[in-house]
Formats: sequence, C-alpha cells, structure tokens
Amino acid sequence: MRKTFSKAAVCVATCLILAGCGGSPASTPAADESQAEQTTQTSATSADEQAQGIDYLALVNKLNPLPDGWEDSLETVHMTNSVGDDVEVEKKAYDAYLELKAALEEEGVHVDLDSAYRSIAAQQKIMDDFTQKYGADYAKKTVATPGYSEHQTGLALDLYLNIDGKDIVMNEDLVQYPEVWEKIHAKIADYGFTLRYLEGDEHITGYGYEPWHIRYLDDPAIAKEIADQGITFEEYKAGKVMPEVSYDFGKSDLYTAEELEEAAIQAKCEFATFEGCELHNLRYAGDECNTKENLDWLNSLDEGAKYTQVVELLTDFHTPVEGGSAWEADTEMKDYQWWLAREEGKGWQLVTWGY
Ligand SMILES: [Zn+2]
Repeated sequence: MRKTFSKAAVCVATCLILAGCGGSPASTPAADESQAEQTTQTSATSADEQAQGIDYLALVNKLNPLPDGWEDSLETVHMTNSVGDDVEVEKKAYDAYLELKAALEEEGVHVDLDSAYRSIAAQQKIMDDFTQKYGADYAKKTVATPGYSEHQTGLALDLYLNIDGKDIVMNEDLVQYPEVWEKIHAKIADYGFTLRYLEGDEHITGYGYEPWHIRYLDDPAIAKEIADQGITFEEYKAGKVMPEVSYDFGKSDLYTAEELEEAAIQAKCEFATFEGCELHNLRYAGDECNTKENLDWLNSLDEGAKYTQVVELLTDFHTPVEGGSAWEADTEMKDYQWWLAREEGKGWQLVTWGY
C-alpha cells in the first residue's frame, strides 16, 4: 500500500473507530495544466537508462504520481515542430502519432506537436521559479506538482493545428476550431490514443476540457472501448480493477445521487491504485457527516483549502492475499472511510482516508 501513515489527526467520525491505520493522499493543487505547460523545457534522456519498459496503462493525475522508476525505463525521441521547438516524446507514442498525423492529413487536417514529455526535474524547476517569484501559494495553484503531471509519462501529447498554412498554437485560439477537433478525436483511438480531459468531467480528471491533450495507451482496442463508452481514463481504470462493486447511496437531503456518484468515482479511482485490494461495496455514510467539525478537520489537512461541504463514504474490501501492504494480508476490512470535500462551485476532492 502506498502513501499510508499513522494518522495523527483525531477521527471525528460518527462511525466505528478501529485500528490506527490511516492514510492521506498526496497534495492536490488546483493546477491549471495549460499554464504550467507553456513555460516547460524538455530535457534529454540518457540511452543508458532506457531498458525495462513502462506500463502504458499507468494512471497519472493529481492523485496518482508517476510510478517509481519510470524515468529510468522511459525511452524517448526528439523532434522539431513547425515553430522550431524541440519536443521529446516516448518512442512508441511518437511512432503512433506519426501514423495518426498522416491519416489526418488525408482528411485535410494538419496537426503538430506542441509539448509532450516533461521531466520531473524540469517541472520542479518551474515550481521553484514560480515559488521564488510569486510565492508558494500562487505556484501551487498554477503549476502542476512535480510527479503528478501526465506529461511526465512521455505519453501525453499536446497537439496544435495548422489551418490554411497558419500555425494555431495558443489555447484560446485552438478552442475556436471544434469541428477540426471533432475530426481528430474521431481518429485517435485507431492509433491507441485517448482524449484525457473531457468536457464536463473536471471533477473526475482534475482538469477542464482540453481538446489538444491526448494520451497514448499502446492499445487501440482499449482506446476504442473508452471512446465508445464516452468515459474518462480514470473511470476505465476504476472499472477494470473493480468490476463488481456495489453502491448504496441511501437517502440524502444534501446531495443528489449523481453528486454522490461523482464522489464515489474519486474514491474508486484512488482505490484502483491499491494493488491487489478487492473492493466489495461503497456506500454513503449519511448527511450527518457534513458537520462543521469535519469541515474544520478536512480544511486543516489540506493547506489553503476552503471546503464548504463534506462527503464520507464507507467501504468494505479485502486486503491483498500476498501481504506487502500497510494492512494485514488477506483480511476483510469493514467500514473503511473515505473523506471527500468540495469548495463552493467546485468538484469533490479526496482529502483523506483510513479508520
Ligand atoms: Zn497537455
């Protein structure tokens, strides 16, 4: 089990307090991905470090960091785009991109690569520069935390357009061509790419709509399955790991079933990273979790947060048969808590979990 530690904070839940095992998610700044991207520099990867191979289906987002050892296994290539920038991309993703680009050209659509691989060191440098210039609070809000950007996989590609011989590179200009993006999005799955930041799914992905940001999965069948279902990669991963989870949202005067399901997806996506755990059910603890006491507690755990509402979810699950986690091996866990909160007008954030 990753990221677990003995929780110092007092559990103020109305539910059972069992063993002292708890955990906390990594910090989850509300970074605007596009802002961080524009100042990024690429860095070279030594050929000596390339070898073992990477998991093309790894989920990297604001809650799930780049897997350990990723940069040692990553194999990248460099290309120069039409505006003269050096862009570094994972090798197979680049080959697939070239095929996609050729297929699009047959339809009169011209794309190029704006940004792809970004090393943790490069991201850290941006974070440090911003922190020095504007202070830590601003830096956290505008720059993706090093290790938590999908661009660090080398598999995330930001496209830009060439229309009537003119390069369109700025985000605010790119969004003016929905019909062009539609043609592009219809093709990407055939080459193993998925559109990551879907419109209206910011509460799941952590990012607003980005028609240009595509992610290589190395498997057109999976990419097509995701596209056909119209779901996010987060939901795909959660569904694959836990196909048989039952839900019970009970009754709530505070939240709609849809709002509770959005919270459940967040918890389920994090759970999907707990290798070997088997989640059985997930239920809403009830409106009495939305107390001022709980709000104060969650706000104290997340620096700078101004949460106004709380959701507590309870889960039953089975720990991995082969130990290796913070939990006792092969054990049925009951009423394990997931605490989510949201700020006014924003989506749910998973703040902490544990007993
Ligand atoms: Zn991007």
